[in-house]
Amino acid sequence: MNLNHQQAILPPAWLGILGGGQLGRMFVHEAQSLGYKVCVLDPDPLSPGGAVAEKHLCANYDDVIALKEMAALCATISTEFENVPAKTLDYFEGQGIFVAPRGACVSIAQDRIVEKQFLKQCQELSGIGPAPHAVIRSEGDLAPLPDDLFPGILKTARLGYDGKGQARVASQKEAIEAFHKFSKQECVLEKMLPLDMEVSLVLARDQKGYIKTFNVSENIHTNGILDVSIVPARSAKAINDLVDQLAKRVAEALNYVGVLGVEFFISEGKVFVNEIAPRPHNSGHYTIDANVSNQFEQQVRVLAGLPLGSSRLHSSAVMVNLLGDVWTNSKTKEPDWDKVFREPGLKMHLYGKHEARSGRKMGHFTVLDEKLDIAFQKAMEVRKLLGIA
Ligand code: ADP
Ligand code: MG
Repeated sequence: MNLNHQQAILPPAWLGILGGGQLGRMFVHEAQSLGYKVCVLDPDPLSPGGAVAEKHLCANYDDVIALKEMAALCATISTEFENVPAKTLDYFEGQGIFVAPRGACVSIAQDRIVEKQFLKQCQELSGIGPAPHAVIRSEGDLAPLPDDLFPGILKTARLGYDGKGQARVASQKEAIEAFHKFSKQECVLEKMLPLDMEVSLVLARDQKGYIKTFNVSENIHTNGILDVSIVPARSAKAINDLVDQLAKRVAEALNYVGVLGVEFFISEGKVFVNEIAPRPHNSGHYTIDANVSNQFEQQVRVLAGLPLGSSRLHSSAVMVNLLGDVWTNSKTKEPDWDKVFREPGLKMHLYGKHEARSGRKMGHFTVLDEKLDIAFQKAMEVRKLLGIA
């Protein structure tokens, strides 16, 4: 059951969030800024979101006692990640609590096979589909593959993120080896596309079906992890319009309520949809500093049944992710913040994670400027100061 509450949930009500990583933490900040109190459920005692919330339930996502406590406290609940057990979302819905996004939407994004099937259906509506791919459920599925899927990427159907659970494979032989390395989990083998550009779009859809989209973001990935987002994207207007349309269609087809990120590839002038994220997206972090209402505020607004805020961009923005390597590669094991903070157009966001590990998202900064090329140039200078290659 997914109740459409007629009346808005107003501050100082409690909102709940499943997961207290950086996305949960940024949600907490926005909710608190609007006057709400937040309960975070996260088994990590050092959870960045838990550290700033009014209440941190430090328990597993299927801990019955914790779920009961959360249900008793919170008027409404959202999630910061797609791998929350669908049963947990169902439990809250069963308690009559408004949950956004719904478990059914989250479960599509949990499984690349289901996700690709869904995106293929959307292709009929919009003409934009996923990259050519094959579903691999057993080794036998790797035998009859057409040559033009190679070179490709073998991706585990479940639990992949930031390029994890992926192997680049040049041939059928390598695909079989990689399938074994992934312990024969269900996978998708995707053709490796020559990329002109990667872009994404974040939108919010409220309980009444109103949608506000943010600008298209141009994304540079390094080793499968988002590195830099450039906004507005420098892709052609016709492409941006298509991206905007497809993202809205996806949200409508899912009857989605919440904040949704949609990733795209642009390859040889053609647009392909890569994946969807049923939550705020890393490529939308620039909205914290460059938009009237940011993606986390929209998440709060949808959850509370408030009208969506303006998603208007008031400045060009370039966001740079700060991975643990910035810390581990620094001689003092702490980046040279002093130099970085000398840039007046820079907004810093550190997530309060206790341990810096290679590839771990520790923070990001966004450089704002009226002119995109200047913001980009400054962002690249700061990257250099931090020793990012
Ligand atoms: P994740 O869940 O880890 O974000 P993605 O499928 O988005 O997984 O892959 C991460 C990155 O790897 C993409 O953003 C892109 O840079 C690269 N990549 C993935 N699939 C392809 C592909 N089919 N062709 C080219 N590059 C790809
Ligand atoms: Mg991705």
